[in-house]
Amino acid sequence: MSNILQLSDKHSLSVERLTMAFPHNDRLLVALQGVTLEVERGELVCIVGASGSGKSTLLNILAGLDEPTAGRAHVHGRVALMFQEAALLPWLTAAGNVELALELRGVKRSERTEVARELLHRVHLDGFEKRLPHELSGGMKQRVALARALAQDADVLLMDEPFGALDAITRDRLHEELERIWTESGLTILFVTHNAREAVRLGDRVLVFTSRPGRVGHEVKVDLPRPRSLDSPELAVIAGRITDRLKQEMVD
Ligand code: ADP
Ligand code: MG
Repeated sequence: MSNILQLSDKHSLSVERLTMAFPHNDRLLVALQGVTLEVERGELVCIVGASGSGKSTLLNILAGLDEPTAGRAHVHGRVALMFQEAALLPWLTAAGNVELALELRGVKRSERTEVARELLHRVHLDGFEKRLPHELSGGMKQRVALARALAQDADVLLMDEPFGALDAITRDRLHEELERIWTESGLTILFVTHNAREAVRLGDRVLVFTSRPGRVGHEVKVDLPRPRSLDSPELAVIAGRITDRLKQEMVD
């Protein structure tokens, strides 16, 4: 195998000089300009950036929902997406939502019930299989959304502020769950947040986005042992530095 192949094989996701501009009134709004990044297979990388810095735009491009204006984005393997809103189908039960993802993946009808039950077990929703979305709390809905993402048997999970609407305690629990699932599964995760502490809690690395246009302004490797506590002083120091950078960005 050539060096080039070996190098690319290590990466699960790569973005090269990516630019995205939207028509806005009579001019162009440049949401992303020259974004370059790489994520290794099995890595958990967080992107932190102010609102409007193009984080969602980047994920949409990686998910294949949008075409970039210039540059390249490449993901190896199957992609699953998770958003701030769980976006469950309201007329289907928790299990039904997961089974639908299994059906779309081609899992046989006879196996779907059992696999869905197992996936809901992995996100600690035993006993809630038959509940409809409106009968579930916000945290439970995101657990179902996570089970549904796992049902897609993806290689890469793209998460766009998935816990942004949850209370602190629920969010803390979901950080633990996500970390456990990530460790067990070997998934590659790109996790977007505007919260520096959340980024440091979860990420092997944190990419700090500049504000409009967005690009990777700074990278922080997080060497704290896992599991990390959101309230630990070590984490707060690193998050504090990231927040300072974000504030500088917003003044400019
Ligand atoms: P973030 O997720 O970091 O908050 P977004 O990626 O949603 O930022 O948006 C980045 C910028 O691009 C914003 O100024 C937003 O208004 C603009 N934008 C995003 N999507 C579109 C679109 N489909 N059409 C026009 N402008 C858009
Ligand atoms: Mg966004």
